[in-house]
Amino acid sequence: MMTRSIDRLFIGGEFVAPHGTEQLELENPATGDVITRVTLADEVDAARAVAAARAAFEDYSRASLSTRQEYLQRIHDAMARRLDELIDIVGTEFGAPQWFTKFAVQDALGHWRIAKEQVRPETFRYPLGAGTQIVLEPVGVAGLICPWNIGLWFMCVKTSTALAAGCAVVIKPSELSARQNDAMAEIFAEAKLPPGLINVLNGTGDVVGDAITRSPGVDKISFTGSTGVGKRIMRTAADTMKRVTLELGGKSPLIVVDDADSTRAVAFALLVGFQNSGQSCTAATRVLIPASRRDELLAALKAGVEAMKVGPATDPGSAIGPMVSRKQFERVQRYIQTGIEEGARVLTGGPGRPAGLENGNFVRPTVFVDVDAAMTIAREEIFGPVLCVITYTDDADAIRIANDSIYGLHAYVAGTDVARAEGIAARLQAGRVAINGFVDEPRAPFGGFKQSGVGREFGRFGLEAFLEPKAIFTG
Ligand code: NAD
Repeated sequence: MMTRSIDRLFIGGEFVAPHGTEQLELENPATGDVITRVTLADEVDAARAVAAARAAFEDYSRASLSTRQEYLQRIHDAMARRLDELIDIVGTEFGAPQWFTKFAVQDALGHWRIAKEQVRPETFRYPLGAGTQIVLEPVGVAGLICPWNIGLWFMCVKTSTALAAGCAVVIKPSELSARQNDAMAEIFAEAKLPPGLINVLNGTGDVVGDAITRSPGVDKISFTGSTGVGKRIMRTAADTMKRVTLELGGKSPLIVVDDADSTRAVAFALLVGFQNSGQSCTAATRVLIPASRRDELLAALKAGVEAMKVGPATDPGSAIGPMVSRKQFERVQRYIQTGIEEGARVLTGGPGRPAGLENGNFVRPTVFVDVDAAMTIAREEIFGPVLCVITYTDDADAIRIANDSIYGLHAYVAGTDVARAEGIAARLQAGRVAINGFVDEPRAPFGGFKQSGVGREFGRFGLEAFLEPKAIFTG
């Protein structure tokens, strides 16, 4: 494949050459070949984008709700025309298995429609008692800082919600998603929105992300990424008292209740443990099983993992793809090594690449058993296809272990008696709990307890994060 150069930014409604000169090379994660050379934005570009967004916000914040709806529809339609191309780009750049990429790109498209549905007059203005009106105004210019797992999806979720609220945006996507960022910028250009309403910058976090977080011209930061960077953003944003929404890391537990059907429970564990090749903030990486059913569940888990195919996005049979970058591959390898050194036993998988996949960033799907909840691999987010199995004695013990984490993004319960599973769910410290499977409700709030974040995205909760409430009293 030819190396593609991306040396343009989307600022003020047009593609412009970056002021920044630093270059970044991106590899196809399945082959190691350099496929993209990106010229990165710098602080000057960030300042230009913020100025463009501020100018656009003046008009857009006063535009009618039907104008907001129309813009969201236009982006939706422009994106819908390029869906197959976007699926290819994500596969080449990020490497996720095809079924997952198709789902994610289609889901991203759906967020423009959902955001449009949110734009209802009663959401933004309603009476509260005699002589009192509550008005929800757009918070201003929003800086949207996104991760790479899948970059395009985060751009769509955040941007659609911000536009529905009446905000203008500066998007700082992951520098590892350059092709997706550029394709989305083309889609925004095709939608012919007012110049500056959406700006897209390819740049690093240290330079462009930090400049946006410091800028007095930005009123709100919506960030998804690691907990460490989230803390830094919260501190920096405090200087200008920016509103912040932080979607951060996780170390989610799956409690397999002692009455669970082992086939269903293991299928659920594989789905939620290895989703997005383990590069998912909601991955259930701590599998809590009852000591009384240990041998049976471990045998089923081992067989299930070994039946999963690791391979490139180009193979429709792949269930687990490569890690996004060599750096991420090495990080996962280090954790596997640490697990072994700390005394956990490898049930399946282990260090190195799977046979026949020596070139890309492929990891052997790994399950550790005899894991003590105090071990590094049971506490830190690995962000790869690595599960830790921890045994518990009774429901109370399982709940205690599940909640023994700095994180609280997601939790999962597998069990036959649904009332009992719901009782366990009620005691878990997590922003979401899924029992026995997923229900696709895109308006349900998404976000974390504890160090998994601040605030919520999706639906009404997500919209309100881009709004300032104002009370007007008429005497
Ligand atoms: P990251 O924190 O390294 O980077 C996220 C984004 O922040 C990137 O765009 C990066 O360039 C930018 N950034 C880095 N330093 C910055 C700084 N000082 N100021 C401003 N911006 C900066 O995370 P990542 O490696 O891209 O993504 C993986 C992490 O994201 C994992 O920890 C994962 O759990 C988390 N994540 C959370 C959710 C969620 O919804 N809670 C979803 C996906 C990923």
